[in-house]
Amino acid sequence: MNIVRLTYASRLKKPLGHAALENIMDVTRRNNRKLGVTGALCSSPRGFLQILEGPAAAVNELYNRIVRDPRHACVTLLEYTKVPFREFENWSMAYIRTDEIAKALLHKYSTHHVFDPFAMGPVQARVFLLAITELRAHFLAKQHADSGKRDVGLGGAGSI
Ligand code: FAD
Repeated sequence: MNIVRLTYASRLKKPLGHAALENIMDVTRRNNRKLGVTGALCSSPRGFLQILEGPAAAVNELYNRIVRDPRHACVTLLEYTKVPFREFENWSMAYIRTDEIAKALLHKYSTHHVFDPFAMGPVQARVFLLAITELRAHFLAKQHADSGKRDVGLGGAGSI
């Protein structure tokens, strides 16, 4: 079966609070486990950057649902490609907010210290999400050495 990787950027229609983001992530993790979809989502006041990877049919169906979600707008496809393997295989959806990311790391992947998903190309988006997810995994492994749980919680998780 083909694995595909889909990357998109979107803008927030209006600011989303902690509870709204928590709700999105609860539903996301529940659904993605069932669908066999993995990936990463980065949120900031400027918008979302998300990678979905998994079986083509599941990723396609999910992306259509996400595009129609009224909580964001201007959903813009950055990349859709077949890939030989997953890169976020341990994450039903890694979630990281930009205010948890060190300024130096943001600077490395952006023209300014401010994250803007629309200023990123697909390669940049992928390596950025891989880098912050890897840092988060190390952070969580330190914090929860025994749990073996890798999905990122919201809030209070600390900076990377
Ligand atoms: P339902 O049980 O039908 O609803 C999901 C929950 O969202 C409910 O609690 C409902 O109250 C709430 N909700 C739905 N619409 C709204 C709204 N307009 N305002 C406030 N609350 C609302 N879903 C995934 O499954 N996987 C993903 O990877 C994923 N990524 C997303 C990324 C972003 C940036 C956004 C904005 C949404 C994402 N979603 C994702 C959510 C997706 O758009 C659908 O809302 C969700 O997939 C519906 O799933 P469901 O039918 O099982 O949930």
